[in-house]
Amino acid sequence: MQSPTISISEAKKLDLKDSLSSFRDKFIFPQHDGENALYFTGNSLGLQPKSALDAIRTELDDWRDLGVEGHFRARNPWMHYHELFSEHLAQIVGAKPSEVVAMNALTVNLHLLLISFYNPQGSRRKIICEAKAFPSDRYALLSQINFHGGNPDTDLIEISPREGEELIRLEDIISAINEVGEELATVMIGGVNYYTGQLHNIGEITKAAHKMGAMCGFDLAHAAGNIPLNLHDMEVDFACWCSYKYLNSGPGAVGGAFVHEKHHNSDLPRLEGWWGHDKETRFKMDPDYISMGTAESWQMSNAPVLNMAVHLASLEIFKEAGGVGELRERALRLTDYLEATVKKVAALTGTHLEIITPSNHEERGCQLSMVAHGRGRELFDHLSENGVIIDWRDPAVIRMAPVPLYNSFEDIARFGLILQDALN
Ligand SMILES: *Cc1c(COP(=O)(O)O)cnc(C)c1O
Repeated sequence: MQSPTISISEAKKLDLKDSLSSFRDKFIFPQHDGENALYFTGNSLGLQPKSALDAIRTELDDWRDLGVEGHFRARNPWMHYHELFSEHLAQIVGAKPSEVVAMNALTVNLHLLLISFYNPQGSRRKIICEAKAFPSDRYALLSQINFHGGNPDTDLIEISPREGEELIRLEDIISAINEVGEELATVMIGGVNYYTGQLHNIGEITKAAHKMGAMCGFDLAHAAGNIPLNLHDMEVDFACWCSYKYLNSGPGAVGGAFVHEKHHNSDLPRLEGWWGHDKETRFKMDPDYISMGTAESWQMSNAPVLNMAVHLASLEIFKEAGGVGELRERALRLTDYLEATVKKVAALTGTHLEIITPSNHEERGCQLSMVAHGRGRELFDHLSENGVIIDWRDPAVIRMAPVPLYNSFEDIARFGLILQDALN
């Protein structure tokens, strides 16, 4: 039984019981008044792994000591550096190692994948996405439509929540797909919505898109490292993500891409560069492109090693923790605890705190999005002044994500007490 008030000692007991609690020690927390801040923005920028500095230093030292020879003789030879990510990323998104590649940044990868998977022909030119998608994704989709000479007003179909609702119903996405039917070229949805925290049903959406003969892909910025994924078995055509949110790889760190193996040797259009060329003959420097025949065929340039070193260090922590599947159990417990804490505070202070994120586990990750009716910005400012790092999104949402690798039940209880204090 949880007590009706918020208890730090009760939270500490939960931390002691949890076998993954010690992973917190692998991360560095921003400080507030000489103590760890209460950091709940791993959905925006994950914390720095303590191993990050050594990971970068290793590459700097090898560069210093070896110069160009580091391509072959570095401890992690740069020539094959990107290959070190395949097994890790395959685990993160539920793919075969040949279906994933660490490269570029998220929006760049979205464009590169749309070049292949948004290929309007005749009357099949429409894209379905969710309303209030992350702005960068919307810009990418609209500019792709323009690039192909389409009409952005009619070719982009955005699925909204129903009147008076915050979340998008699966049935509404499916019926839109069925209605657009043969005019549908591509479905591209954010796996977890950045604003509401809603997790969409990747398998069902993909099936529906395929039934209409369309391609289906997902932006997994808020899903990668947060939710166990199964892109290969669900036959998702393409996906991309960033590594600086739940994957803790540092600001602007390298992104990732997934291309289902059924497309590796197809004749989809693609933008190409030398790092997608068959590696056996890449350095013969032949004028003609021979594809790697894997997701690496979409890779253009050699790996940005200094940037990727942190990503590798971070992925090793995921592996040590047993992968996203193990972490997910803890994430659900932490997020449920946060939800219960917010509800207690609402009851104790008589405030209307509305969590718009679905309460059902199948439809959410770590993040909770909360509307504090009538108490928006000033509440947020009070929390910030008291060492709580959360984020605010206009018009009125406070987003907070307890991350299973480094947040604790105690963090949440402390947050609850500060929230209660703020509202009293
Ligand atoms: C974070 C995020 C982005 C950011 O794009 P970058 O290209 O990495 O700057 C784009 N789309 C979504 C859905 C995001 O959550």
